[in-house]
Amino acid sequence: MLLSNKVCVITGAASQRGIGRATARLFALHGGRAIILDLDGGQAAEAAAELGEAHRGIACDVTDKAACVNAAARVVEEFGRIDVLVNNAGITQPLKFMDIEPKNYEAVTDVSLRGTLYMSQAVVPHMRAQKSGSIVCISSVSAQRGGGIFGGPHYSAAKAGVLGLAKAMARELGPDNVRVNSVTPGLIQTDITGGKLTPELRADILKGIPLNRLGDAEDVARSCLFLASELSSYVTGATLDVNGGMLIH
Ligand code: NAD
Repeated sequence: MLLSNKVCVITGAASQRGIGRATARLFALHGGRAIILDLDGGQAAEAAAELGEAHRGIACDVTDKAACVNAAARVVEEFGRIDVLVNNAGITQPLKFMDIEPKNYEAVTDVSLRGTLYMSQAVVPHMRAQKSGSIVCISSVSAQRGGGIFGGPHYSAAKAGVLGLAKAMARELGPDNVRVNSVTPGLIQTDITGGKLTPELRADILKGIPLNRLGDAEDVARSCLFLASELSSYVTGATLDVNGGMLIH
């Protein structure tokens, strides 16, 4: 049990095959209370109920600062603290550079980057007050290798922004014993690609993965568990690659 009685907020965790949902499941197995945030409160509540009575689902659009602050306040009101935040909510779009319209840029950067800022700002006062906390930010290998997998350049930019934000947060929040780290997954088999990942593209990507398989949501969840728990007690500002060797640098 690596997270006994730890209160763990995970954004974008309602999606059935998603990384957030797998992370919530694993955290619950390790004794954590999973607080599942997602756009649809009903789906978030269902996802939490599946894990058991100790867990909660709350509607929260991470691009809405007031919604983030309210969600954090509800968690603290009921459970008294927030120990872990996983900034997982994200969307992607397979667009070429010149096809990115303002609305595409806003949609993609708003969820990953603005959402990471707003949700972190919502939990940090509580973590600072309790002088402990772990924040895990889900970036992407796309940030490190300049896309070329599924998401367009605006997705790479948003996820690279997450890496910079997380490192700066780690520096600033370290003195309050709040650790901040990032995970950079490679291609993980979830529904984020919305059926647009063709078998040809999949086969092509596979050729470049030394471990010779695409990743599963659980592969990423296990790295989140490491970063959320005391196993990583002296790790902050780090980026953990979970990509099967797709990018070795
Ligand atoms: P997913 O589509 O299964 O899950 C994303 C979840 O985020 C959904 O439940 C969705 O409702 C939620 N969400 C979207 N906008 C939101 C908002 N404004 N507020 C709150 N929730 C919102 O996708 P996934 O593959 O599990 O992705 C999880 C994270 O991992 C994302 O940040 C994604 O960019 C990142 N990632 C995924 C892959 C991959 O190959 N699947 C690779 C690298 C990084």
